[in-house]
Amino acid sequence: MQQDLILLLRSLLQNALNPLLYSSIFRILTRTPNSLHHGRQLHALLILHGVCINPTLAARIAAMYSSSGDLRSASLLLHYHPCPSSLLFNSLIRGYSLRNLHIKVLSLFYSMLARSVIPDHFTFPFVLRACADLPSLLTGCAVHSLCLRRGLELDVYVGSSLINMYAKCGEVRFAHHLFEVMHVTDVSSWNALIAGYMMVGAVKVAEHMFDDMPKRNVISWTAMISGYTQNGVAGRALQLFEQMRKNCKEVKPNWVTIVSVLPACAHSAALDQGRRIHDYARILGFDSHPTVQIAIMGMYAKCGSLVEARQCFDCLPGKNKTVVAWNTMITAYASHGLGAEAISAFDDMVSSGVQPDAVSFTGLLSGCSHSGLVDRGLEFFDDMSVVYSIKPKHEHYACIVDLLSRAGKFEKALEIVNQMKIDTGPSIWGALLSASRTHRNLDVAEIAAKRLFVLEPNNSGNYVLLSNMYAEAGKWDEVKKLRAILREKGMKKIPGCSWCEIDGQAHAFFTGDKCHPQATEIYKLLEDLPVRMKAAGYSPETGFVLHDVSEEDKECNLAGHSEKLAIAFGILNTNPGATLRITKNLRICGDCHTAAKFISKIHNREIIVRDINRFHHFKDGICTCGDYW
Ligand code: ZN
Ligand code: ZN
Repeated sequence: MQQDLILLLRSLLQNALNPLLYSSIFRILTRTPNSLHHGRQLHALLILHGVCINPTLAARIAAMYSSSGDLRSASLLLHYHPCPSSLLFNSLIRGYSLRNLHIKVLSLFYSMLARSVIPDHFTFPFVLRACADLPSLLTGCAVHSLCLRRGLELDVYVGSSLINMYAKCGEVRFAHHLFEVMHVTDVSSWNALIAGYMMVGAVKVAEHMFDDMPKRNVISWTAMISGYTQNGVAGRALQLFEQMRKNCKEVKPNWVTIVSVLPACAHSAALDQGRRIHDYARILGFDSHPTVQIAIMGMYAKCGSLVEARQCFDCLPGKNKTVVAWNTMITAYASHGLGAEAISAFDDMVSSGVQPDAVSFTGLLSGCSHSGLVDRGLEFFDDMSVVYSIKPKHEHYACIVDLLSRAGKFEKALEIVNQMKIDTGPSIWGALLSASRTHRNLDVAEIAAKRLFVLEPNNSGNYVLLSNMYAEAGKWDEVKKLRAILREKGMKKIPGCSWCEIDGQAHAFFTGDKCHPQATEIYKLLEDLPVRMKAAGYSPETGFVLHDVSEEDKECNLAGHSEKLAIAFGILNTNPGATLRITKNLRICGDCHTAAKFISKIHNREIIVRDINRFHHFKDGICTCGDYW
């Protein structure tokens, strides 16, 4: 009797030491959320009882650790295992890949090869994804050759990963070639190609592919929408989103779609449409996603509604007030010319315990620059490296040079440029050139323009700006030389264009536009303006034309500037008291700036103009920029 019991106990114990049993338990734990604690206990038990952790069991334990996010334990297991299998490597590679730790994926792949473990069709898709997202074409090609040697190129998963890798690395033609060679092409390969074509600006090809697709999923639609946005075809992005929303039985937008379409609203200053998409995101429950929240804030800020942007920010739960969220607010204040508000947002961020990063300082410095806060700006520029150990990059130098040269402190600006340890880029010289125009400093203009002619040989704006300055100084020979270069290069000036959104529709106006159905009324309103301005106590200044921007032709009738046309159109077509929102593709010119101030007073309207650099809020005859832009 006792003998039997001993036998039974022994067999139980033997079974309890069976690695196969544990393998299945760990497999279950991997699929069960929040099971890290139990997994750890079980692992400890195995070690205590001296259960043999064979390669398969090790792989299962590693999979449990990496799916629970404890990648350290998983990698220790791999490190100390005498003969790790490809399964063990794969579970760890998968863990790193899911957390987008691409460099880790690649280094693990290298150590796999170094330990003579053969990668398989589970390994390659993760490794290729790392190459695609980094992106690293060279490594991708090397991995491709390994796939070929293992005969895996035509495997569905490996093949579509290869297509994705080549498309994301910008080799879209090669990706297409593989696509045609492959016998099976799944929807993800189509999507990768569409995204690839959009990335290189081949919008038409992407459209054809989208139309030809046998089956489309949410990623296909999103790739098209975000592709349109990237390529500046914002109108099409919004249209396609509407179409997707209407066909929502077939496919429903996800949070990525929302994040892709919001910049399109910002691009065409379509505030109403942005609000509708915000509502839609709320209905679908995406508005609690941190990325969506930030995209919504950014959309409001870029569509000129700082109030709504701030409301969204204030509604964020504490944990979502990350550095990215704060940066969105700081940048929004800066672009609206509210330097003091940008600074106070920065102070609030620091006192709430969030560490600023390089982007925070770009926003902060450009805020100081737009508001003429020279001393504060210089202080922050010093603090950046001394207090926060952030090395200034190009954009920071550009902001500080902009700040100093706008204030006319060219000597100090040039001193900083000469001390720069990195190459000077067009943004730095561009800031100097445009400020030298405002301050009529021909010496600095010549220094900056000469650099710009080399850095941006095809930017006509630089030539026009310098030639206008020569004209003012009466140096007609120089003017002739520059005009000749312009003609020779066949450079065209960028035409000024402004948009005004009314009832969700954007109306575009080009400089001197006369083909609009309401052209007569628009020009009549503008013609009456000088008289009314004089009556309001305004005497015209000749300095205006000097404020005029580089890109637009000075000879062109000022009354025909696109932003004036758009404002007049807005006045004629909206109810009294309604706020006007205008977007311009270039910098607003001095004459239009003054006109907008007076129109805001005479017609009692709030006018918000977003130009290429910043926002201007006109109200009661003044602008938030304080005429400093
Ligand atoms: Zn103008
Ligand atoms: Zn202004």
